Amino acid sequence: MSVIKEPDQTLHHVLDIISDGVWDWNIATGQVIRNPGWYRMLGYEIHSFKQDVLTWENLIHSDDHDRVMGHFEAYVQGLIPEYNIQYRCLKGDGSFLWIEDSGRIVERSAEGSPQRMIGAHTNIHAQKTLQQKLEEQSKLLRGEYENLDHIIQERTKELDQLNQQLARKVEEVEMLASRDALTGIYNRRMFESFLDIEIKRAKRYSQPMCVILADIDLFKHVNDRYGHSSGDKVLVEVALTLQQHLRESDYLARWGGEEFAIILPNTATKVAMETAERLRHEVESLVTTEGISVTCSFGVTQFHQKDCGTSIFSRMDQALYMAKDQNRNTVRLIPPRPEVRA
Ligand code: GH3
Ligand code: MG
Ligand code: MG
Repeated sequence: MSVIKEPDQTLHHVLDIISDGVWDWNIATGQVIRNPGWYRMLGYEIHSFKQDVLTWENLIHSDDHDRVMGHFEAYVQGLIPEYNIQYRCLKGDGSFLWIEDSGRIVERSAEGSPQRMIGAHTNIHAQKTLQQKLEEQSKLLRGEYENLDHIIQERTKELDQLNQQLARKVEEVEMLASRDALTGIYNRRMFESFLDIEIKRAKRYSQPMCVILADIDLFKHVNDRYGHSSGDKVLVEVALTLQQHLRESDYLARWGGEEFAIILPNTATKVAMETAERLRHEVESLVTTEGISVTCSFGVTQFHQKDCGTSIFSRMDQALYMAKDQNRNTVRLIPPRPEVRA
């Protein structure tokens, strides 16, 4: 007695318990046998379909149909070596299931035409949907990155504009900090720092340097007679006149009230006196837009090697005092004192 079971019977049981679908297509008769796993996988009652090839074709998702048929025909006609393709199949509940279909021709006629083909449908729905989800997420991320890139570019542009505005503001603030608000010429603070620089330069190169202090004569009367705002306009026009008759390299500052201080770098007494005289003459000749005329007194002194800011200021102040004392509208010089001369 043999205990070995019929081989076909064994195969029948194996096919019964396989969870994925197995199909066996007899090309000559057109019959397709599908295992119970195939029905279970797609959610249909076991053996509820006609056993023909159309049953399968009708379940293929319309978007996948042509691709699958092309592949299938190419294999059957021997144009490609393998039949293996992924697509969606209609399930019993109306949804679609991603499967992988692979098959092989197992019998041919004497002429070589295919007679039988068997294959398997494997459920790949979980991996396929996960893959699609990942692709969607990466697409979204790419979109977000592009969006982020765009936002960064916009922000950078805004930042550049803000930086430019800031640079203009800094320039404005520096201007305000270094200039006199009424006349626009340098203020006393800047004059003092320029004088420091020029003293060092004059010492370093043993160059001459002169300073001039100018004060509008009897300016109080101008205010009294024409009013403070007309007085302001006179100050502006006198400052402009002084500026116009100085060299580029000279420094003009508002020392205070109606006083102006001037540095003449690389200039000796003779030229400084001539400059002061020219300035005196120009101010005297000025008739302002409101028809006001004023005069100015000038004190001049030359730098010497042992001078500091204070000593040179003090001499120019004394020189101006002398000019005021001698009837105003005049230029006076105080030379460096012999005892402090280098
Ligand atoms: P002196 O010839 O001795 O210099 O006579 P002065 O009248 O010019 O001198 P004083 O120091 O008596 O008066 C200066 C005047 O300058 C008084 C002040 O009101 C005026 N002053 C100072 N700063 C300004 C200003 O910014 N605007 C105007 N309008 N007047 C000013
Ligand atoms: Mg004055
Ligand atoms: Mg004064």
